[in-house]
Amino acid sequence: MNIEDTLIMIPGPVPVVPRILRAMAKPVINHRGEEFADLFGECRALFADMFQTKNDILLLSGSGTSGMEAAVGNLINRDETVVTPVNGKFGERFRDIGRLYGNAVPIESEWGYPIDLDRVAAALEEGADAVAMVHNETSVGMLNPAKEVGKLARKHDALFIMDGITSIGGSEVLVDEWGVDIAILGSQKCIGAPPGFAAVSVSKRAFEKMEDVHTFPYYLDLKAHKKSADKGQTPYTPSIPLFYAVQEALRIAHEEGLPARMQRHAAGAAAVRAAAGAMGIEMFPEPDELSGYSDTVTAMKVPPGIAFDQMKKEMLAHKILIAGGQAHLKGNIFRIGSMGNFGPKDILITIQMLESVLHRHGVVSDFGAGIEAAGSVLAA
Ligand SMILES: *Cc1c(COP(=O)(O)O)cnc(C)c1O
Repeated sequence: MNIEDTLIMIPGPVPVVPRILRAMAKPVINHRGEEFADLFGECRALFADMFQTKNDILLLSGSGTSGMEAAVGNLINRDETVVTPVNGKFGERFRDIGRLYGNAVPIESEWGYPIDLDRVAAALEEGADAVAMVHNETSVGMLNPAKEVGKLARKHDALFIMDGITSIGGSEVLVDEWGVDIAILGSQKCIGAPPGFAAVSVSKRAFEKMEDVHTFPYYLDLKAHKKSADKGQTPYTPSIPLFYAVQEALRIAHEEGLPARMQRHAAGAAAVRAAAGAMGIEMFPEPDELSGYSDTVTAMKVPPGIAFDQMKKEMLAHKILIAGGQAHLKGNIFRIGSMGNFGPKDILITIQMLESVLHRHGVVSDFGAGIEAAGSVLAA
């Protein structure tokens, strides 16, 4: 397989544009010097704009999960409770991290179905200390009701941790307005940088709580990160090439502007949904009025008449990579990302090729309907 020119339309990692790749070739600098402080400061400021927050931004050399662990691990004691709504794989990850650091109260829905807010409220009523929820559940292509959960957390004086790893920088996320105490972003998703870096926003309330938490991760001690950040540094040696990549990715996002960026992501996902509809492919998630289809990844049922592995193989022969389902959804669903610095042509070529593959297998009969539907959304 030629990895140089395979278009990866999966929900992260996403293709990294040359401008960002080139930024990583800059010289390695002293992480205790002025140049690093400038780089660090610029990233923090641009992230604050993207998160729409006045909270502190801390930057971690670790993938998205490091941000999830930092959030839960710094905010709950062994005898405390974190409510973890689960309707997909990443919700399960919060549940598992919660169990490691304290008590988790999982509020489980079937994957792809809405979170039961009444049960979240009941668990908070019983005195839970925090709630940790995935905003955009990548495994099922669904947006969860962060604003409503934020309100519930406030009402019960609990902390709100939100995985915004595949929403921040792609979908609307209002960290301050929603009362998110710790929000998390991963570099390989909506900002379109390489993997291995996470950004978290931390509220004053969260920092206050950390003073009373006695066992917390060492490398991911957010108090230590905050202390260093105030000097324009990280406590341990950061991944300098990734910081350069992230700086460039943030500059690109800033040049585009957040509203335009959100619009582009929404249009990309809407085009995939329109094409699916026209080809008779069913959506996988079942959002209600408070949740919604994701703007950054579309999860669809594998249509009868073809196996996912076959679809994937034939797409890959044309140098386009699509994603399957995770865990029990393997073979049942497939996912197409509209994430990062993609453009309409990436969506169109993906749909075109998908339609060709499905047509060849007799799965779609009205050849051309999918690409026409996608094209009309993107031209609008
Ligand atoms: C990708 C992703 C993560 C983090 O995964 P890493 O592999 O640690 O970067 C967490 N949550 C969601 C919703 C994701 O999509």
